[in-house]
Amino acid sequence: MTTRPPLATEKLSMLIGGRPAAAQSGDFFESFDPFTGKAWALVPRAGVADVDAAVQAAAAAFRGEWRTMTPSARGQIMTRFADLVAEEAENLAVLESRDNGKLINEMRMQCKYIPQWFRFFGGLADKIEGRVIPIDKPGVFNYTRREPLGVVAAITPWNSPLMLATWKLAPALAAGNTIVWKPSEFSSVSALFFGRLFEKAGFPKGVVNIVTGFGHEIGDRLVTHPDVAKVAFTGGDATGRRVYQAAAGGLKKVTLELGGKSANIVFADAKMEAAIPGLVSGIFAATGQTCIAGSRALVQRSVYDQVTEKLVAFARTAKIGDPLDPETQVGPITTLPQRAKVLDYISIANGEGAAQLLGGKIPEDTSIADGWFVEPTIFGNVKSSMRIAQEEVFGPVLSIIPFDDEDEAVAIANDTIYGLAAGMWTQNLGRAMRLPERLEAGMVWVNMYRATSPLSPFGGYKQSGIGRENGQTAIYEYLQEKSIWIDAGNSIPAPFVQR
Ligand code: NDP
Repeated sequence: MTTRPPLATEKLSMLIGGRPAAAQSGDFFESFDPFTGKAWALVPRAGVADVDAAVQAAAAAFRGEWRTMTPSARGQIMTRFADLVAEEAENLAVLESRDNGKLINEMRMQCKYIPQWFRFFGGLADKIEGRVIPIDKPGVFNYTRREPLGVVAAITPWNSPLMLATWKLAPALAAGNTIVWKPSEFSSVSALFFGRLFEKAGFPKGVVNIVTGFGHEIGDRLVTHPDVAKVAFTGGDATGRRVYQAAAGGLKKVTLELGGKSANIVFADAKMEAAIPGLVSGIFAATGQTCIAGSRALVQRSVYDQVTEKLVAFARTAKIGDPLDPETQVGPITTLPQRAKVLDYISIANGEGAAQLLGGKIPEDTSIADGWFVEPTIFGNVKSSMRIAQEEVFGPVLSIIPFDDEDEAVAIANDTIYGLAAGMWTQNLGRAMRLPERLEAGMVWVNMYRATSPLSPFGGYKQSGIGRENGQTAIYEYLQEKSIWIDAGNSIPAPFVQR
């Protein structure tokens, strides 16, 4: 058993206007460790007044020094921040693993990688260029500027707390916006430690503000606050829809990263030594709690029995246990309600007639009985029409669906309301070139799965989201273009005619 860091007995603080802040009510809530099932940290429970204070601080910072700072100076602060995060990466990873129960190996990888986002977007800060338009009016000079939007509300889920926040904060800050960030109530601890680094890096006070609390208590105020210009949200599609509707009242700009039901397609000509671990990593890494989980394995019928047998045998060996132990391969589910939801889907799948080939219950191992675990679960002979093949489970549950040929694989892969990601495994070069454009998904991985980078766009087709994160173009989600007209001649306007 690994040593668990001591209970964080200190009451943690939010970040408002550059200062550590308690909730104005003085209230806190407990954050739970999903492996022990016990509370381990006390997080401020913000109310509407705290949201208002944070938005006010962000709005003031937007009008202040941050607005007049050169983009190069902004970028340098972001690079300093990246260095500080790199120094703190191990501590942050432990906090994340403790708070959301995801594997320390995964949280380490993420926390070490996060600085690259701040470096990449920090580097872009002084490359946001306008255009000179060869305007069709004599004597007139017309050019454009790309300007920040103002206060951005960033709302993030529990599964990859700092990484998903970074995907919003880095481009938004590089573009010159200010931030109010609300992390998930289930994984706020790392955010509050991360928050301590902003001032150290040299961000002016109020540029980044963090409020913690419950979405149902403060989410609506944050989204509808008149001084919030844009909402950048990652979470479930039901909440995403609510956020989108609330933001529409103020005609705010919105990006949404929502759920998925991604297909991971294995053709008979795949290199099976790669495809089988690829299927496993697509669903059981992160205990299936990732929006890009390859929760539907589409397997060509001629190799269906062979792939299924090997897959089940391999998944059976997965070491379930303490997420802080680097040997562990499958950790607990982050929240108790989420575990109940996963178990519910398992019984729905059984009721629908899917063949349960592995797992399906809470592990019997008494040494992990306090944790919120569900066994890695595999269903075979799933039909695309079943709920288990259509709805996002967000847990370690894989559905295997057989197909005959390329056309059928594409039809099944595209047969959901979602369109976040897809994977495919083949040695056929033509197929590898041909298929990605037929798949309705924002990311397609060929002979690999679950790769992301600050350099490459991430986002969903269909009901998996609106807008893109990552990649150079993500910065434009946080900018607006202004057209400036100058009469460089000496003309006297005709007052009653449009020019
Ligand atoms: P939720 O949608 O429940 O929550 C996401 C965030 O929204 C949380 O911070 C939550 O706060 C907040 N929130 C809740 N209600 C409101 C409201 N009325 N107004 C504004 N904000 C609100 O998602 P989970 O945290 O449960 O995360 C899991 C879901 O996220 C999965 O379904 C998954 O598919 C999706 N996801 C998508 C990703 C993507 O990139 N496409 C990445 C990761 C996850 P609180 O925690 O206090 O309820």
